[in-house]
Amino acid sequence: MVNSEESESGKPVYTLSIASRLSDIPAHSIRQYIDRGLLIPFKLDSKRHLFSHNDINRLNHIHLLIHEQGLNFAGIKALMAMIPCWAIRPCSESDRQSCNAYSENTFPCWEASEKGRVCKNENCRECDVYKILSEEVNLKSVIKSLI
Ligand code: SF4
Repeated sequence: MVNSEESESGKPVYTLSIASRLSDIPAHSIRQYIDRGLLIPFKLDSKRHLFSHNDINRLNHIHLLIHEQGLNFAGIKALMAMIPCWAIRPCSESDRQSCNAYSENTFPCWEASEKGRVCKNENCRECDVYKILSEEVNLKSVIKSLI
């Protein structure tokens, strides 16, 4: 269940320049994170992006992984690819066979070109798997709790 505090923190309310100011991360770096699939911003009809408080947390976590843990974009993606999304989403064995998030390990599930039935029409931005990095930077402890 989503409580009101969580839904408030998920509301896309900040423009790119405000997100940049709040996270202390340059706007061009935020655009790079988006281009590399590390962050899915909320898209307005005008194609402009908006960011939530959860997105600011995610930006800070990505920044920490790069600047304190020495990971590059590929490293972060590989780390996120290790999250066993099928342990969080209700995927059947046949869903897994048709999903390349299950078979590949170089990109996170939300970047998969072929997704299983359970994920096909989902908004990944709203998914608990995607949101892990917005809430927790210690992915090892998350993975340990799932296997
Ligand atoms: S809905 Fe998207 S983020 Fe969630 S498990 Fe499926 S592909 Fe991954």
